[in-house]
Amino acid sequence: MADYDLAIIGGGLNGVSIARDAAGRGLRVILLEQGDLGAGASSASPRLIHGDLAGLERRHFLRVRSALAERDIWLRIAPHLVRPMRFAIPAHSDERPAWRLRSWLLLYDRLASRSGLPASATVDVTHHPVGNALKRPFGTAFEYSDCVVDDSRLVVLTAVDAAARGAVIRTGARCTRAERGKEWRLATKDRGFRQVITARAVANATGAWTPSVAETVLRVPPPKVAAVQMDQIVVRRLFDSDNIYVFQNSDGRLIFASPYERDFTLIGTVSHAFKGDPAIVAMAAGDVAYLCDAANRYFRERIETVDVVRTLSGANMVLKPASRRDGAVTLEHGRGKAPLLTIVGGDVTTSRLRAERAVSKLTPFYPMSARWTAKAPLPGGDFAWDRFDNEIDEVRDRWRFLGEDQARRLVAAYGSNAKAVLGDAKERGDLGPAFGPELTGAEVRYLMQKEWARFPDDILWRRSKLDLTMQPADREALAAFMAAAV
Ligand SMILES: Cc1cc2nc3c(=O)[nH]c(=O)nc-3n(C[C@H](O)[C@H](O)[C@H](O)COP(=O)(O)OP(=O)(O)OC[C@H]3O[C@@H](n4cnc5c(N)ncnc54)[C@H](O)[C@@H]3O)c2cc1C
Repeated sequence: MADYDLAIIGGGLNGVSIARDAAGRGLRVILLEQGDLGAGASSASPRLIHGDLAGLERRHFLRVRSALAERDIWLRIAPHLVRPMRFAIPAHSDERPAWRLRSWLLLYDRLASRSGLPASATVDVTHHPVGNALKRPFGTAFEYSDCVVDDSRLVVLTAVDAAARGAVIRTGARCTRAERGKEWRLATKDRGFRQVITARAVANATGAWTPSVAETVLRVPPPKVAAVQMDQIVVRRLFDSDNIYVFQNSDGRLIFASPYERDFTLIGTVSHAFKGDPAIVAMAAGDVAYLCDAANRYFRERIETVDVVRTLSGANMVLKPASRRDGAVTLEHGRGKAPLLTIVGGDVTTSRLRAERAVSKLTPFYPMSARWTAKAPLPGGDFAWDRFDNEIDEVRDRWRFLGEDQARRLVAAYGSNAKAVLGDAKERGDLGPAFGPELTGAEVRYLMQKEWARFPDDILWRRSKLDLTMQPADREALAAFMAAAV
């Protein structure tokens, strides 16, 4: 008998979502990730959980409605990671006319009618906080509701849930070769050690690596896909309001600026064709300047390229011809040829549904239980999304030494599992050494033991964004602490 029912190659959002779905349906699952979970495109997304207003312009009404339904599911199952936000589109006469924006938003409200989020509204920018940060004399803006998500934590907590349901998650484990017969024989290099495992089916969920893994590891014809790079920049906070601004740039692109980790603003996106090694995706200087110029066109506070504290770039595959939103799932098998699932591209909002469809394709091969992921909360997500602030209050009541910001960060990252991080601590010192004002030894240990963190970046960038404010000396102390804790 094969070691596993399903071996998944790739620990981005697509891979971990398949692992969670399949493990919960009773399959014996292993996931192999060559680096850290979410280290590819999945930690460089625009972080939106949305119906995609622009989809209405392309008349993708059914897709928008389905994505809005997914948005509601995310709010229910991940209320710590997904936050409702008010998006603001300042109307400008040179661009899409106000009446058109208004009619899109009315339709958007209708398609999202059961969400419980506030409906869209027209605001007078000259007398509304939305206008405070804006440079140009906009008269009107439109506000509407959508959500943002902590994308890399979504990946990690999805993997945590998959593991809790029996999946084996191996990070630092690269699949180097696969022999296909009635079952798969996979050669892996797992933290330097060579191993062989067998599986009844394989899923190729390797994002921008999909064609090369198909050709060189699985030795099957690569899917017809094109590589696309997507870039964003992080600058110091440009505005006080909690809105996400969506600007209609003069070249027709929609540019957004979003509050990011309390003290910063995330501005994006530019995307273009990508060539090269997906492990090294760097933003071109011209694209950094483009996003700074776009922001300067709208915000009072000016930014230059030297103000960019971090760039976020990812590469992934889109189908030819492209349907970027939903991605694509194919299943290939034959006599004496064990099944191969290939899952390509798609956005964060639709990832749960995509995984559900992918795993459902395997039903002819295995007995498995019914679809389940729409109703089961992710780890720590067992509270209603509108009780997020109550969760923070409860944490502050019990661990009185925590400041408001610290408690908020912990609840946003761990939800109700913040309790497991904080344990019985009575005072700050009980949480072990401090690495900067926020991170403690207790949290580092938790992340190493429960969430596969191995290196400082795993913690500082993918399981938190503390890298944005961490001093070099604290980083060095963290590296030494982690090395000693292994
Ligand atoms: C241009 C572009 C625009 C996008 N726009 C949006 C958007 O507007 N909204 C949105 O929500 N999302 C968007 N996304 C999607 C999002 O960023 C990701 O595509 C999504 O998170 C799914 O990623 P993934 O799991 O397929 O790939 P990845 O996150 O890249 O994961 C693939 C993983 O496979 C691993 N791997 C590769 N080879 C091997 C091997 N041999 N063995 C083991 N592991 C291996 C890699 O290390 C990597 O971690 C966009 C993506 C692109 C490219």
